Amino acid sequence: MSNNLTVHPKGLYVLFFTEMWERFSYYGMRAIFVLYLAAKATGVNPGVGWEKADALALYGWYTMMVYVLAVPGGIIADRLLGQKKTVMLGGILLCIGHFILALDSLQAFYVGCVFIVLGVGALKPNISSMVGSLYKRNDPNRTKGFTLFYIGINIGAFSAPLLVGYVGETINWHYGFGLAGIGMLLGQAVYIWGQKYLKGIGEFVPKQLDAQSGRIAKVPLTKIEKDRMIVLGLTFLIAIVFWGAYEQAGGLMNLFTKESINRSVGSFTVPTSWFQALHAFYVILIGVPVAFIWNQLRKKGKPNSTIFKMGVGTIVTGLGFVFLAKAAYDASTLTSGQASMLWVLAAYLLHVIGELSISPVILNFITKLAPIKYVSMMMGLYFCASGLGNKLAGVLGEAAFEDSSPFAIFVGITVFCVVFGTLLIVLVKKLNALTHGADVEIESDPVEAA
Ligand code: GLN
Repeated sequence: MSNNLTVHPKGLYVLFFTEMWERFSYYGMRAIFVLYLAAKATGVNPGVGWEKADALALYGWYTMMVYVLAVPGGIIADRLLGQKKTVMLGGILLCIGHFILALDSLQAFYVGCVFIVLGVGALKPNISSMVGSLYKRNDPNRTKGFTLFYIGINIGAFSAPLLVGYVGETINWHYGFGLAGIGMLLGQAVYIWGQKYLKGIGEFVPKQLDAQSGRIAKVPLTKIEKDRMIVLGLTFLIAIVFWGAYEQAGGLMNLFTKESINRSVGSFTVPTSWFQALHAFYVILIGVPVAFIWNQLRKKGKPNSTIFKMGVGTIVTGLGFVFLAKAAYDASTLTSGQASMLWVLAAYLLHVIGELSISPVILNFITKLAPIKYVSMMMGLYFCASGLGNKLAGVLGEAAFEDSSPFAIFVGITVFCVVFGTLLIVLVKKLNALTHGADVEIESDPVEAA
């Protein structure tokens, strides 16, 4: 990957910092969501005093709903406002929501959450689509642009739990929520300031009007567009599988790390919650190298289509669970009852290699493949699929403690991901044909695809 950052349009940096701050606010409040609800309602920094299970249930719904609402967020952009204005609206809703959370009342907490769900729904899919609009369809810098954008997301995601988590947990929950709000305010300020670099990007595309009746003409999708929509449908399925495996991190892997992993380094015990910052840390660390490797393969003419990357990513993610299965086996056979931390560190690393071969790649793919009038809706559907993946992760995690065991779930996820990823690779030629060339990158003289 080229180190030359000037090849990217200035608008990329506007979207980079806007989304970095938006993610800072989102992951910041998410980091203290359950802790605040479950903290005792008395004492120096009183929480709400809920049972853990109730706090987790609300958390599960909340984290699913923010992504499900990306569907109406996308539709509003396609039908009414365009992406640029919908992102602006989402940012306003988010600023309001975060500052309502800074108020010390449970009612305010609920109202704030509703604003955040609506705000993320409006902002998240549309800002991702706008990144794609900055580049021509076959421009190889497009992939690099999405990698940078994804690194921005993770700088926000990495720093938020540390800062907002610290302030919320040790000083005052509502100062923590307020700090998340200040992050969002900065994001909104960057976005407003950067409008001058976003001219012509994410504008509303009016529907074609029928010349005679003056009504909206219902232009049917062409065969090529239909084929591309079919491939996109498949990527949503991949998203459910991938996020269903990957998001074990916050649930089952989290509890497993707490109970069955030796977290001592000398006299220091690594807090379990620190492992939650690992994904973002690894993305920042290896985001560019992974994109570089894929790019080198492309230049050497090796298979490198999006479907191929997604197949490889799913397999690598699955293989990450082999380390966890080994850890679970050790924990059940060793007398200490605890396995080495290295297994978990290795598992997270493989999961992130998988993530980098899937998540930013899908965002790029959607903006290349979806017919222009449906880009935002398709992006919304993708985030919705990732929300369903999160829910699936929760269901699998629960099973590990009810009718199954962590070992069995880890092995099961490995097998499923490896088989599913292999199937994608076997079918790669057929599926690529359905993209009708929209996935090809051309090194020089980028031209607009059909
Ligand atoms: N971690 C990424 C983000 O916050 C991906 C989220 C998702 O697709 N579910 O943007």
